[in-house]
Amino acid sequence: MVNLVLVGAPGAGKGTQAMKISQKYAIPHISTGDILRDNLERGTQLGLQAKEFMDRGELVPDIVLIGIIKDRLSEPDTATGFLLDGYPRTFPQAEALDDILGQITKELDVVIDIEVPDEVLVKRLAGRRMCRCGASYHVLFNPPEVDGKCDHCDGELYQRDDDTEEAVKTRLVAYYAQTHPLIDYYSTKGLLRTVNGTGSIDDIFREICAAIDRIL
Ligand code: ADP
Ligand code: AMP
Repeated sequence: MVNLVLVGAPGAGKGTQAMKISQKYAIPHISTGDILRDNLERGTQLGLQAKEFMDRGELVPDIVLIGIIKDRLSEPDTATGFLLDGYPRTFPQAEALDDILGQITKELDVVIDIEVPDEVLVKRLAGRRMCRCGASYHVLFNPPEVDGKCDHCDGELYQRDDDTEEAVKTRLVAYYAQTHPLIDYYSTKGLLRTVNGTGSIDDIFREICAAIDRIL
């Protein structure tokens, strides 16, 4: 049982690693980006509210995200642990998470920061292809076995609307201004483990597992 948060810039490999961690430790992968994209696709009120922010590469307002995470963490599958991917991204979100966890008598065990230089992030996002099941591929660095198809569910791969040059720039600015300061917040709490995110997917996964296993 482990309650963990993955942080890192857009394109750091959070989604890629989250899928593997969630399988190995049998904990739900909670990606706020996936939840928002699912709402967008279903045309819900939440999706409509979030769309303009997401397309521009801006953060969706805290109040919306805090509501999403509060509801999701109250679901029974989080009883044996959870993995947050893409939340928290601001101080108010981090403080709200502390409050929510306090109310349901849970605690974070570890926060893993995946570090990747900006020039690598930009190349990763430019070639990213996604599946609706949450799997993430890259046309050069991590291609699927069959072109355009997901290895896990055979779904059709697509390019995200916010993986454009303009939106990527905005997302990186938002990351450094609003999310990166959380690294100090979690470091001060003694929860932070930093992983170099430039190696192979399997090497990074081994490093993350070693960090998790040390606290289990
Ligand atoms: P995030 O969820 O942090 O935005 P993703 O997991 O979607 O990032 O990864 C971004 C892109 O980089 C994807 O195209 C993915 O296939 C690719 N990628 C992930 N990890 C690596 C890695 N270690 N080496 C090369 N490419 C990677
Ligand atoms: P991601 O899939 O994590 O890259 O998120 C895609 C987009 O969804 C982001 O660029 C934001 O617009 C929005 N989003 C996801 N998670 C959050 C969050 N915790 N706070 C604010 N916006 C978010």
